[in-house]
Amino acid sequence: MKTTIKIFIIFTILLSFSCKRVPVKGKQDKIDTLKQKIKKPEKKYSSDYLLMATLWYQKSAEMRAIYYQTYNFAKTILLNKLPYADTLKRKAIVVDIDETVLDNSPFEAHCILSNTSYSRKEWETWVNKASAKALPGAVDFLNYAKYKDVETFYVSNRRKNLKQKTMQNLIDRGFPFVDSMHVLLRDSVSTKRYRRAKILKNYDILLYIGDNLTDFSEIYEDRDSLLAKNLVDKNIKSFGKDFLILPNPMYGEWEKPVFKNNMSISPEKKDSLRKAILDSY
Ligand SMILES: [Mg+2]
Repeated sequence: MKTTIKIFIIFTILLSFSCKRVPVKGKQDKIDTLKQKIKKPEKKYSSDYLLMATLWYQKSAEMRAIYYQTYNFAKTILLNKLPYADTLKRKAIVVDIDETVLDNSPFEAHCILSNTSYSRKEWETWVNKASAKALPGAVDFLNYAKYKDVETFYVSNRRKNLKQKTMQNLIDRGFPFVDSMHVLLRDSVSTKRYRRAKILKNYDILLYIGDNLTDFSEIYEDRDSLLAKNLVDKNIKSFGKDFLILPNPMYGEWEKPVFKNNMSISPEKKDSLRKAILDSY
């Protein structure tokens, strides 16, 4: 009896060793499946950083007031400048389009709600709807300028393949001077300096309106470590005189120095750089 027990114990031990040393394929597959199940889920892209900026842009009455304030002030500037305009040239105002005269915040809201970032394809889908609303005060002011014999040029970095839909959108909202001559979209370069220079040949530009400093001058294209704030300080007198700037907390050239001029870095890296640059106590 004792011998039988001993044999049974020895057999069990040997069986146990044999199981450990020779992996069974089916068992390995199960382990692999289990490992995959407990693998950390991939971090999903988040556009939450855009939430407050877009909410403010869409839902704050303050935003609306700033646009009215700016376009009301634009009338005052125009009236003050008209008596001194170059009589040998025609008179013009240069405006940017996006977040200056047309409201694209629904595109930003779409990015937030679908957890996606900007893509040219998605942007063009939005623009091709030609459904952007006019920003407060813009239509009224530019028609007032027309009444005062001042033309409007729309200088935008929308691409040329979007010209027809862009013009349709502007016409539908009641903007004046919407034609091929007055709507100057992005050509081979993004800088607006050459388009401004072309207008200046025949026109006295009385006022520039935009949401980005590069809508006014090329000096703001290369932002140094001081984020171009030093340039704004240096040219303090041009704001409220030649240039009217509108608020855009959702996106803009101002983001570039935050990301060290590399916009193609990962969303995670962008998020950490956004926080790293903040001034705290
Ligand atoms: Mg703009």
